[in-house]
Amino acid sequence: MSTRYLPIGHVGRAVRCHLLLALTLLTALVAPTQAAQVDNIRLWAAPDHARLVFDLSDHAEANIFTLDNPRRLVIDLDQSGLDTDLSSLELEGSAITAVRSGVRDGGGLRVVLDLSREVEPRHFTLPPNEQYGHRLVVDMEYPGESAVQNPIDPIEAMIREQEIAANRHHGEADGESPRLDPEVVAQQPAAPHPRRDIIIAIDAGHGGEDPGAIGPSGTREKDVVMEIARRLQRLVDDTEGFRAVMIRDGDYYVGLRQRTRIAREQKADFFVSIHADAFNSPRPNGSSVYALSQRGATSETAQWLAASENQADLIGGVDGNLSLNDKDEVLRGVLLDLTMTATLNDSLAIGGQVLDQLGRVNRLHKSRVEQAGFMVLKSPDIPSLLIETGFISNPDEERRLRDSGHQQRMSESIFEGIQAHFHSNPPPASLLAWQRDNQRTPSGNEYRIQPGDTLSQIAARHGVPVAQLKQANEINGDVIRVGQVLRIPRS
Ligand SMILES: [Zn+2]
Repeated sequence: MSTRYLPIGHVGRAVRCHLLLALTLLTALVAPTQAAQVDNIRLWAAPDHARLVFDLSDHAEANIFTLDNPRRLVIDLDQSGLDTDLSSLELEGSAITAVRSGVRDGGGLRVVLDLSREVEPRHFTLPPNEQYGHRLVVDMEYPGESAVQNPIDPIEAMIREQEIAANRHHGEADGESPRLDPEVVAQQPAAPHPRRDIIIAIDAGHGGEDPGAIGPSGTREKDVVMEIARRLQRLVDDTEGFRAVMIRDGDYYVGLRQRTRIAREQKADFFVSIHADAFNSPRPNGSSVYALSQRGATSETAQWLAASENQADLIGGVDGNLSLNDKDEVLRGVLLDLTMTATLNDSLAIGGQVLDQLGRVNRLHKSRVEQAGFMVLKSPDIPSLLIETGFISNPDEERRLRDSGHQQRMSESIFEGIQAHFHSNPPPASLLAWQRDNQRTPSGNEYRIQPGDTLSQIAARHGVPVAQLKQANEINGDVIRVGQVLRIPRS
């Protein structure tokens, strides 16, 4: 009804309004008018890659490309601006030598990284979570720096170890089939015992952009587990016959599969991943020790077998003598199953020893080794444990996890558990095995105390309970002195 009396100019204005609205909507669809601001930039430098993370006020898509002469990486963000100081970015340890920014023609942000080496860039965006808002992640992989060149086949590794052991017994090292003629054996001196170190791979959980769980006073899991890992590393490296390998050696993230790959590459005898639990209530507390679940192990066997179908080159490639290429897939499956079962049994045994020791310095959340399908525990041939050192969500335990004395006691008890196992089950080529076979317990059944020794360490190293060691030497309390000679009782 009212249109009939509407003045013509009024109609025109209404149409113009609609047009404007339509235009505005169209513009909004083509390019969001709400510009995303870059509020902060973080850099995580790892040996084989660098990760740059942009905190954004809103979702934004990036266009990323490399330029040569000089080598640069360009990151373009449409309709975005910079709200942070790039000069505060710590570039040390990364391939980035300088960072610049500018405004692109037609608006938008351009960030240019000067690079000291070739990189393979990859990027993705992340939606907001509890800790962060919108993020743009730019990964720069360093070609050729991957911690692992080739995955090593666990069955092949097992057979190789057997062959090495057999060759040593028969005085051969050339890979020919062992000759059993006793005279020949007698004439050829046995190859020297390798007396190698037992390698303990230490995996501090999380890292870099992944802080892990966060305690009520803001303690980050990635930081406290790194403290404990570093203390464990020192203990391992200070002990004859052992050597530590750090899976991550700084504040950067390592993929879960990559963590087990690094352990295999480093020929680890044992893998321990260190974490701190969190729960949505402050009450739960105590340490837990996890081994892989049988189900996780079984599905992993299936996966290794499936992958091996496509790995014929790899399996046959290293040494014809060791190749399983021509062997039955069923046999292969049986071997792999046996390996994984043996590995899991070792994991559970070491886990029991570690739990025993942890129970002396902390409450235990569960009194037995638990089993779960954690990805980092899935090495088929390396006994592996994941240790939840405590609940960071429990205020009291959060405080303890930050305490250096507590960190030290945790790492000592973890290592004592590990040592107790390897002293009774040393790998054949290890120094510990050689010492056992040659009864090289220092000066028979005596031990002279070295700087840094603790009673419980000495006890674990000789496979005797601390109480028995103290009793045999009439020690009250925990005080020992360097140079003191302890009698080692037969356990
Ligand atoms: Zn964790």
